[in-house]
Amino acid sequence: MTAAATDSLEHLRREAASCRACPLWKNGTQTVFGEGPSDAQIMLVGEQPGDREDLAGRPFVGPAGLLLNRALADAGVNRARVYVTNAVKHFKFEPRGKRRLHKRPNAGEIKVCSTRWLLGEIEAVAPQLIVALGATAAQSLAGRPVPVQSNRGEVLELASGLRVLITVHPSALLRLRDEKDKREAYDAFVQDLRSIAQILAREAGLARPSGMVSTG
Ligand code: SF4
Repeated sequence: MTAAATDSLEHLRREAASCRACPLWKNGTQTVFGEGPSDAQIMLVGEQPGDREDLAGRPFVGPAGLLLNRALADAGVNRARVYVTNAVKHFKFEPRGKRRLHKRPNAGEIKVCSTRWLLGEIEAVAPQLIVALGATAAQSLAGRPVPVQSNRGEVLELASGLRVLITVHPSALLRLRDEKDKREAYDAFVQDLRSIAQILAREAGLARPSGMVSTG
């Protein structure tokens, strides 16, 4: 881990804590910045913090995060070696009684937030591969809408030089009601995540990447 990358991330985190660049700060509890090793080979990008993340101030600690942890483990990827963040750093929601229902950020919010903070995280960490979890993450990275289902499992080579593997957001799996659909969607998600290991191993001349754990 380079000290410069760590310092740079810490600086960004402190700055982002008082960000007022779009209206989402007004209702969210706090800015939820990314976390993970500053020298991670892989960066996972989600949409925005959810209810639990907003309260905890950490990304992917709610139900979708637990599902993501399980899927990463099943794919042979060690989450502790992965940098995890979101395209948008404040929770956007609609109050419904005592509940706060997730509301998708709009294109302007995605652009402002990702330009301001996500690009800085990418520059500091310099991951070999970014995994876009869902449409918002893909849009924030590509700068245009990217249909997830027709691109999932594929690596987009962007003009910026970024390499982005497209897959679904784990919260999409949580919304499924039918057990068979759930199982199939989970298996497909794990398969997408498995290709992280394959891609990095291929590039490292088949040496096992340090972000991977043995799947036995
Ligand atoms: S969502 Fe992003 S751009 Fe908007 S206030 Fe929060 S940190 Fe700033």
